[in-house]
Amino acid sequence: MDWQAITQRIEVAVAPHIGTGKVADYIPALARVDPCKFGMAIVLGDGTMVTLGDSHEPFSIQSISKVFTLSMALRHYDEKVWDRVGREPSGSAFNSIVQLENEKGIPRNPLINAGAIVVTDMLVAQGGSAAFEAELMARFHRLSGDDSISVDEEVAESESATGSRNRALAHFMAAFGNMANPVEESLQAYFRQCAVRMSCRQLARAALFLAFDGCDPINRERLVSRENCRRINAVMMSCGHYDNSGDFAYRIGLPGKSGVGGGILCIAPGHGAIAVWSPGLNASGTSMVGAIALEELVEATGWSVFV
Ligand code: GLN
Repeated sequence: MDWQAITQRIEVAVAPHIGTGKVADYIPALARVDPCKFGMAIVLGDGTMVTLGDSHEPFSIQSISKVFTLSMALRHYDEKVWDRVGREPSGSAFNSIVQLENEKGIPRNPLINAGAIVVTDMLVAQGGSAAFEAELMARFHRLSGDDSISVDEEVAESESATGSRNRALAHFMAAFGNMANPVEESLQAYFRQCAVRMSCRQLARAALFLAFDGCDPINRERLVSRENCRRINAVMMSCGHYDNSGDFAYRIGLPGKSGVGGGILCIAPGHGAIAVWSPGLNASGTSMVGAIALEELVEATGWSVFV
């Protein structure tokens, strides 16, 4: 693979679009980020790291955290996860409440907010929110080889201060008996996982196990079973971008997860993991420039799972 030619091609493709889209402003601490930032990191199975732009700059991972908590929950609870959350695309916005009533408090999938709150609730039920956060951070530190990865306290507070909508989702699910802990405890854990700051390099490295059947190809640690790895990728493909998931599959053809901080994590099974960051979002909360960069990458590499 001629990575120099590929990175140049991506740079040329994104250049006219840098700064487009809308930076998330419903969480005040996110609104201050420079809309012209662009970074990308591609990590291959042998540890080769190909980078572009601001690939070392930490940003708020937001909903990308949901992929990591899902993998933790599947490891601990396996099939039982699906008693409390579905695995169908929602076709709705990330914070939508409308389907929850008909579905009796069972969220459509683990990658919308309601579903991710339930997943975090399961993990908190194991040993409390402090133990949950310690396990999540230890995973990030171990896989990325960087102990400085941490929760951005200002973003976490900002999430909580503006979290009425997420509180509504959680209390609504509690009314159906689908929350195991005091609602506020699980919510705080969820706000904090969203507020983790990581760079594209760290994020791609931390997710590499998802491209290699659940086992990190470099340190050989198994994080999820082969079956559950396949399932996580399937859920990312069908649900990773909310009501934009179909369009993302059409354009890019890889399992992916967006975050309103402007990050996208993408998995190229058997090849590597990719993280891209550019804060301007489309109407569904997916990074505009990030998606263009990924389109260009799959075009150049032939990595789409649909070939
Ligand atoms: N923390 C955000 C929220 O819960 C995450 C949303 C997102 O990244 N799509 O609203």
